[in-house]
Amino acid sequence: MSKKIDLSNALYTEIHKCTRCGQCTYGKNEAAYIPLCPVNTLGHFFSHSAGGMMQIARSLYEDKLAYSPSLKEILFRCTTCGVCEANCGIIHDHQEIIAKMRISCIGSG
Ligand code: SF4
Ligand code: SF4
Repeated sequence: MSKKIDLSNALYTEIHKCTRCGQCTYGKNEAAYIPLCPVNTLGHFFSHSAGGMMQIARSLYEDKLAYSPSLKEILFRCTTCGVCEANCGIIHDHQEIIAKMRISCIGSG
């Protein structure tokens, strides 16, 4: 398996626990659809959220995705505000995983 991101087994396992609930973007009142994550201002697709970026990290690790200009735009839109980690009850390392993608994509050219 080619690795486009340096993930430990623990982080890769953590990513699999994402339920795609959306609370990392909308908070505990996700049904109101008021985005709290600055990345989500780019667009209202799931990929523009911490949960979406967890799936992106998984795809990169599994060599099913490559870094593209639009993907880099998503990754560097993150302000590291921590809203996702405060609202997700399952994953606790969003910012570390996003940082790992940023490091790897700079090296990807
Ligand atoms: S990262 Fe957490 S809050 Fe966001 S969609 Fe996945 S499980 Fe839900
Ligand atoms: S840390 Fe990044 S991904 Fe998480 S809510 Fe803030 S801007 Fe969004």
